[in-house]
Amino acid sequence: KPFGWGDDVRDYIRTIPDFPKPGIQFRDVMPLFGHPRGLRAAVDRLVQPFAGLRIQHVAGLEARGFIIGGACAHQLSAGFLAMRKQGKLPGPRLAQSYALEYGEAVLEVHDDAVEAGEQVLIVDDLLATGGTAEAAVKLIERLGGEVVGAAFVVDLPDLGGRARLERMGVAVHTLCA
Ligand code: AMP
Repeated sequence: KPFGWGDDVRDYIRTIPDFPKPGIQFRDVMPLFGHPRGLRAAVDRLVQPFAGLRIQHVAGLEARGFIIGGACAHQLSAGFLAMRKQGKLPGPRLAQSYALEYGEAVLEVHDDAVEAGEQVLIVDDLLATGGTAEAAVKLIERLGGEVVGAAFVVDLPDLGGRARLERMGVAVHTLCA
């Protein structure tokens, strides 16, 4: 199916019930990323509000945020930095823990990934509770960077992520709910 400018990204995102566990409605963005013009449309629309803002780095959240974040970085002529799950980064790093539904997780970044005063855009596939993105904001701010915004393909507004990030002063941009 061709992907035109007026097309809705929602038509290329499928919902898989009970994955990875019962009760979770998993929003699978891979059909959108796998479509030759769908990927370009998603990237163009994600970066659109941030074009011309002199963003130095796009921070992609592991793992689907790496796919789209790398493409967004290229589009903005910015560098890419990886916000990784615990234990994956080889160099000196900062860690930030955050709450999951059950238990907690840790996000890490190399401690030289951002220089003081740099403008950073956070990118991921989906915003749910905002816990992952909040940890990313804290890491970037601990490094002295400034978060200019956070862009996601999908927003699950009932889970409160947008409000949580906006309370931290982060501009949130999403393509669909
Ligand atoms: P949160 O920290 O609650 O905002 O969760 C966002 C992170 O978890 C993102 O990296 C998403 O890829 C993933 N995620 C959470 N809920 C879902 C869902 N229903 N479908 C797909 N991915 C999800």
